[in-house]
Amino acid sequence: MTLFLYDTFSKSKREFRPIDPKNIRMYVCGPTVYDYAHVGNARPVIVFDTLFRIMRHSYGVDHVTYVRNITDIDDKIIEAANSNKEDISSLTSRTIQYFHEDASYIGALVPTIEPKATDHIKEMVEMIETLIVKGFAYEVDGNVLFSSSKYDQYGKLSGKNIDELIAGARVDIEDFKKEASDFILWKPSKDNEPGWESPWGKGRPGWHIECSAMSKKYLGDTFDIHGGGQDLIFPHHENEIAQSECCHEKKFANYWLHNGFLTVEGNKMAKSNGNFITVNELKDRYHGEVIRLAMLMTHYRQPLNWTENSLLESKKILNKWFSFFLDIEISKVDEDFVDESILSALKDDINTPKAISELHQLFKNCTKEDVLSIKKFINSARLLGLMLSSPKEWMEWNVRENNLDEIKINELIEKRNLLRDQGNYSDADKIRDQLDELEIILEDKDGKTTWKQKN
Ligand code: AMP
Ligand code: ZN
Repeated sequence: MTLFLYDTFSKSKREFRPIDPKNIRMYVCGPTVYDYAHVGNARPVIVFDTLFRIMRHSYGVDHVTYVRNITDIDDKIIEAANSNKEDISSLTSRTIQYFHEDASYIGALVPTIEPKATDHIKEMVEMIETLIVKGFAYEVDGNVLFSSSKYDQYGKLSGKNIDELIAGARVDIEDFKKEASDFILWKPSKDNEPGWESPWGKGRPGWHIECSAMSKKYLGDTFDIHGGGQDLIFPHHENEIAQSECCHEKKFANYWLHNGFLTVEGNKMAKSNGNFITVNELKDRYHGEVIRLAMLMTHYRQPLNWTENSLLESKKILNKWFSFFLDIEISKVDEDFVDESILSALKDDINTPKAISELHQLFKNCTKEDVLSIKKFINSARLLGLMLSSPKEWMEWNVRENNLDEIKINELIEKRNLLRDQGNYSDADKIRDQLDELEIILEDKDGKTTWKQKN
């Protein structure tokens, strides 16, 4: 079954043809680490993790290299560290840890490589030197800029026209720039700012060159897939293409994938818009799989309007699924068994809403007696990074989240059993009603009483 992906560059859905099927190579722009990730930032983490899972399934787990970088040097980081009166390295390492905890919470696999910008300054300096030698970059007072007009394909990803960019720019461009559309490769650092020695004095890299240098190091001059959020198309990805293609004189990436925005009442969720909620804040109220399912119910290229309702709906669905499997050992199912219709939806440009509707269908056909139906459901869900928790874990979490006291529930059940043994059915039923009010359903089977939460 062929994988089709929508490529921003060609503006069409294209059959995915890897450069080397034994090593699929994907680079996704990762977080700038100065604060907790908001739910908008979590969208590319979930979307590209799902693609990573689909590719691992299709080509083999050892045949996919997924690189997601960490931007740990940036003006926003310097500002945040100053305002916290904190060391930059302590701020970034603390934030990286938060990010890892959040990514794991929402069911994302650890990427194959997670390079940090500050560990790759040497590679960035080398690339900038090559760009200067080749005549694509120039230095002014410790700043090095990419001369966008020297690259005749500048604008090919975003469709922007360089003359319009220059004409449309503010008149008062920085005086070290020859053209408004030129962009920074290296800039000088003040004494109190972090900096590295370079042929142009003490300074630090621009954001775009970080990704060009790190992708080159781990994936080579040309690789299969480059991804990120739509806001990165211009200028970030446009500039990455310009730097890499001028430096290596080879095509940079074969497929460009961009997720749509997660919005709140029509506006992009962003720190600067003040309309954000962090993944960490949601942890108190929602299981990570709830966040993940809520995200995957919308196709990745569509805008996703974030509401509490979508979280509640997704919680209800998962509750139904997990409750059904409560007394089944689901960690023992074979890995490979995946439903064809779900796989074909996922291979059609990661159509997760379609895959989820197929999952509902599959769930309807599940019976506890039919092991195959269960295997199919669980493995197909796991391809989307869902049903990875154990049902017991889910229930325990639900109990905690709803402030239910598990010990108290078990005590009540014991009391009810005692009353029933004594023939006092009316008091036993009162306890059942009491639990019913707490949304707890009792099941009496083979002389044992188990409980689950109402869907
Ligand atoms: P940043 O840390 O701001 O560089 O963003 C990390 C990733 O999150 C990038 O791929 C962005 O495109 C993506 N991103 C940021 N805000 C949103 C949003 N509201 N919706 C979807 N993706 C976003
Ligand atoms: Zn990048």
